[in-house]
Amino acid sequence: MTKNEFNSHIKEVLISEKEIADAVAELGRKISDSYDGNPILLVSILKGSFIFLSDLCRAVTVPCEIGFMCAKSYYQDTVSSGVVNITMDLEQDISKYHVIIVEDIVDTGRTLNDVVNLLKSRNPLSLQVFTLLDKPSRRTVEFDPDIALFTIPDLFVIGYGLDCGEHFRNLPYIAEYN
Ligand code: 5GP
Repeated sequence: MTKNEFNSHIKEVLISEKEIADAVAELGRKISDSYDGNPILLVSILKGSFIFLSDLCRAVTVPCEIGFMCAKSYYQDTVSSGVVNITMDLEQDISKYHVIIVEDIVDTGRTLNDVVNLLKSRNPLSLQVFTLLDKPSRRTVEFDPDIALFTIPDLFVIGYGLDCGEHFRNLPYIAEYN
């Protein structure tokens, strides 16, 4: 891809670097304030949330661990098969942790719905879902994150970890894809 092609796909900046940084700092404070002495595990669902996780964990001022998962859910039309294929799983026994799933965007809700059910079955001390972006108008399963930093309309977005064909993850802001 040429530089011109790359730039031509960036339609409009929807959420600036500063807006993201402020919201992430506030969320880091919230997590830190909730610390009760039990370990916190921030779980990133790869790949889209890797930048959000790396900024968020540095905004947390209490002990916390990080973990990574790669997950794909299988659906027929809008009905979940209940099968979620984990191509990379957590190393930790999560029964000892307050688990926070850190996600880039909730769209149909399918992936997180299945990941949450799977992780709940492992009996964590608590389980919450914090997402950078939420597109509630696209939901096909009943699923609500505990915290969504930004709610956006039904647009395809790129940047801050989110890709299109593996490009654009490196943009420091969220933009609409052209
Ligand atoms: P769902 O909620 O439909 O199970 O899937 C969410 C996943 O779809 C996200 O983690 C993300 O990888 C991808 N996704 C959904 N909407 C967008 C979008 O607007 N832009 C990008 N880059 N990925 C999206």
